[in-house]
Amino acid sequence: MSYVDEVLAKLKQKNAAEPEFLQAAEEVLNSLRPVIDRNEELYRREALLERITEPDRQFKFKVTWVDDKGQTQVNTGYRIQFNNAIGPYKGGLRLHPSVYTGIIKFLGFEQIFKNSLTGLPIGGGKGGSDFDPKGKSDREVMAFCQSFMTELSKYIGADIDVPAGDIGTGAREIGYMFGQYKRLTNSFEGVLTGKGLTYGGSLVRTQATGYGLLYFTDAMLKHNGYSLDSKTIAISGAGNVAIYAAEKAMQLGAKVVTMSDSTGWIYDAEGLDLDAVKEIKEVKRARLSEYKNYRPNAEYHEGKGVWSVKCDVALPCATQNELNLDDAKALVANGCIAVAEGANMPTTLEATEYLQKNGILFAPGKAANAGGVATSALEMSQNSERLSWTFEEVDQKLKQIMTDIFAKAAEAADRYDVPGDYVAGANIAGFEKVANAMLAQGV
Ligand code: GLU
Repeated sequence: MSYVDEVLAKLKQKNAAEPEFLQAAEEVLNSLRPVIDRNEELYRREALLERITEPDRQFKFKVTWVDDKGQTQVNTGYRIQFNNAIGPYKGGLRLHPSVYTGIIKFLGFEQIFKNSLTGLPIGGGKGGSDFDPKGKSDREVMAFCQSFMTELSKYIGADIDVPAGDIGTGAREIGYMFGQYKRLTNSFEGVLTGKGLTYGGSLVRTQATGYGLLYFTDAMLKHNGYSLDSKTIAISGAGNVAIYAAEKAMQLGAKVVTMSDSTGWIYDAEGLDLDAVKEIKEVKRARLSEYKNYRPNAEYHEGKGVWSVKCDVALPCATQNELNLDDAKALVANGCIAVAEGANMPTTLEATEYLQKNGILFAPGKAANAGGVATSALEMSQNSERLSWTFEEVDQKLKQIMTDIFAKAAEAADRYDVPGDYVAGANIAGFEKVANAMLAQGV
């Protein structure tokens, strides 16, 4: 049995209750086959694949807080420090009822390769809780965040592990968590990224994942003889990633026609009114069904459906496994030329395979959505030198990082005889740096 198959079999046995983690590990390990095959003896002796798929440590803790009715609530908090071979653990905190070890572990695993691809010195980690910020008052969110940080603060630090936002964790939550960390430790340090601009945050961090996704997509399209100009784009999600992906897509001359949230989706054939979406989502924290009040000619549908719309480019920016095989078939049938993942692992393995087999340009999340964490690393740099860079400076760096990531993924795919397979290219390029660092540092 090959080393990859051996490790995959062991992983399946050991992590049977964590399907999302297995899915992420399977995708990465399968695409590493050509690399592992060339060095099989060394990697097997060093147990490199076993080491890279086993987190350094995992914390799971109780988070108690009191709601507005005086009722005590109990949630579970998580932080998984996966790999710090190339820098301090780095990755977001997801607050969503679906959170359990398997979700945080898949996200932490992806983060190792994503962070490596940025070219910046950050390791992989992830955390979160099954707390649902939806429908909670500001005070309730603050109570949760303070309690969550009371425990988390024991494990993190500016040179140890630097959490940030993810689904459900935005500027408000980061602010409450930062305040509590400072209170507990009496130190003002860059322990979190995505901070507000008045207390150590970086310009462009809010826009970074969405903008970065479009810089990557632009580079991928250009490399293949296309351009974003006048293209029709379908976007799923209506959070931070989706909103700023739409903004940059429009700036680059494309027309964005869809967005979605957990209850439904909108289709605006003339192109979305992004100011309306921002007001609904960022100010009112309301549902997309309100969009029709701003644009009566637009359509609102309950449930899922974004991928049934005719588009040139699809940008899944909502959550994991939101684009399945049927969706992939619909996109291909409608003449879509490219899919770029703004969310983490939004496309199922079968859907990815189908899209690639049908000649669709496919940009995996760990490369295409790395702009968020890359800009977090730029925030860490600014915190270390106690300076703030201008919007243009950070945006320029972000653009360069995203173009470099595309070049790295394309180059690795060429080098291993799978040209145009950016999934394999990104996994290989991300892995090479981490693997070399792990080997150099010994067991
Ligand atoms: N949650 C984001 C991601 O999936 C950003 C993490 C960070 O900025 O540390 O990459």
